[in-house]
Amino acid sequence: MTLFPSRKIRTLQDVVAWRLCCGCGACAYAMPEGSVHLVNFEDVGIRPCFINNHTPDIENLSYCPGYRIADTNLAPKITRGDHEFGVALEIWEGHASDAEIRYRASSGGILSALALYCLENEGMKLVVHTAMDEKQPWLNRTVISRTRTEILARTGSRYSPSSPCEGLKWIEESDGPCVFIGRPCDVAAVSALRRHRPQLDKKLGLVLTFFCAGTPSTLGTLELLKRLGASIPAVQSIRYRATAGREISMYTSAMHLRINPSLREMLGQLNSVSAPALQTLPGRFGTPGRHILWRCMAKARPQ
Ligand SMILES: Cc1cc2nc3c(=O)[nH]c(=O)nc-3n(C[C@H](O)[C@H](O)[C@H](O)COP(=O)(O)OP(=O)(O)OC[C@H]3O[C@@H](n4cnc5c(N)ncnc54)[C@H](O)[C@@H]3O)c2cc1C
Ligand code: SF4
Repeated sequence: MTLFPSRKIRTLQDVVAWRLCCGCGACAYAMPEGSVHLVNFEDVGIRPCFINNHTPDIENLSYCPGYRIADTNLAPKITRGDHEFGVALEIWEGHASDAEIRYRASSGGILSALALYCLENEGMKLVVHTAMDEKQPWLNRTVISRTRTEILARTGSRYSPSSPCEGLKWIEESDGPCVFIGRPCDVAAVSALRRHRPQLDKKLGLVLTFFCAGTPSTLGTLELLKRLGASIPAVQSIRYRATAGREISMYTSAMHLRINPSLREMLGQLNSVSAPALQTLPGRFGTPGRHILWRCMAKARPQ
């Protein structure tokens, strides 16, 4: 019996067929307009569909995180922040000092606070990230935020499929530096793409990511709604985590630390600032969330 097909991965379609695609959307950005549609398969996730079966061959796969990501595992330790999770410049613990952001955010608001700081104080033009789809709240969409109001409205983790790399074109076409927020797999694609796209590289002012153990499919959200007795067409809004860091989510860092050996990939080790949730400890339940802020080595970036 053959467990795995012997066929090698030659095209992006093969990446999808081998179930290695994470739905980042980088191929929709990188390939000619109209040649890729991103489709959300309810029980799988967001996947690219290639028009006329035209998919790039292996030579053009270097940016696809389903095919390959840069290996930082072998990098020698050079800073005090380096340890078994991988190379890091510095590791800090903290939270947003803006009370409203901290209250509304997923687990401390560092991502939203840093993004807003870049807009208000660093002259950055926009933030490309992920938000609830207002028309179908059980789905996400890739959005641009330019104001505090927009950033505030889009705080919080969405444990459902997202494809923020499809929005890289907005960054590339902007008239100044921008912020990108995505999962570690999205950031791996960004890191690879910027090496060959000087215009994108120039416009990426700050790349932010978070600890991520994976994205459940839309079916997970729909099942949850069903169990809660919600009528799906009547649902107006979905938040996966409560405000002020109180969470009902099944995710805990400790659980993932035990079950997933690939922490470096989960943390987003590729030239980014990563903000995993510091889970509320027993006895501190209900206190606003805090963070470990992980500043990764810039050496993955092209010189
Ligand atoms: C799918 C998923 C799995 C995660 N798994 C873990 C885990 O196992 N352990 C752990 O410690 N932390 C996990 N996190 C990270 C954690 O939930 C927080 O996102 C992180 O700590 C940042 O918190 P914050 O308060 O700074 O974010 P906020 O200030 O609330 O900002 C959240 C940002 O994340 C973006 N975002 C939300 N959902 C998505 C999405 N699906 N894809 C891309 N961007 C998104 C939003 O656009 C927003 O900009 C996960 C997050 C996600 C989305
Ligand atoms: S680039 Fe992203 S969306 Fe496209 S095939 Fe690879 S992992 Fe999937």
